[in-house]
Amino acid sequence: MQKAILSMIFALGFACAAQAAETHGAHEHGAAKMNISVEQDTVTIELDSPLDNILGFEHAPKTAKQRAAVQAMARRLHRADTLFVFTPAAKCALKTVTLESEKLDDALLQGKREKQKAAPAQGTSDAAPAEGDHDGHGDLEAVFTFACAAPRSLKSIDVLLFKEYKGMQEIEVQLVTPDKQVSAELTPKSTTLRW
Ligand SMILES: [Zn+2]
Repeated sequence: MQKAILSMIFALGFACAAQAAETHGAHEHGAAKMNISVEQDTVTIELDSPLDNILGFEHAPKTAKQRAAVQAMARRLHRADTLFVFTPAAKCALKTVTLESEKLDDALLQGKREKQKAAPAQGTSDAAPAEGDHDGHGDLEAVFTFACAAPRSLKSIDVLLFKEYKGMQEIEVQLVTPDKQVSAELTPKSTTLRW
């Protein structure tokens, strides 16, 4: 019984990851795309944003300060329950956060505090620039899942990314629920998606 449920959850997870990894549209600083799906009690939010909007640079970290900035960004996004505010009656809770970027090491995106390393392993201290560094741009793909105890009460999401990230100027949102499809453009002056 439990095994069946677990494998279902895994299957759903993979489906979401596959969706998140698809096409890259035009990369425009300040703009981002967000796909939100509401299925049964699960809300999945996929955010695709230029790294510049969130991090302020779009390359692998070159200094300790930049490395710390990447980790701070990851830790903040792993606490996404204060970045997306749902209709309170729906009782939604953050379940998973997945962050990916072709420019950033996965290890830096885990949202964990890094212990001071004694010395870097040989040969890795000045790692070669990540693949694709020469094109000068990089995106962050984030997938957040929430579980809602009363999903029928869910009618709105307030997106606080604008308050957190001054580089974020507009987010093109597509929302799909079992009976609705909504397109909207959110901006710092209009942060709430309602349906
Ligand atoms: Zn860029």
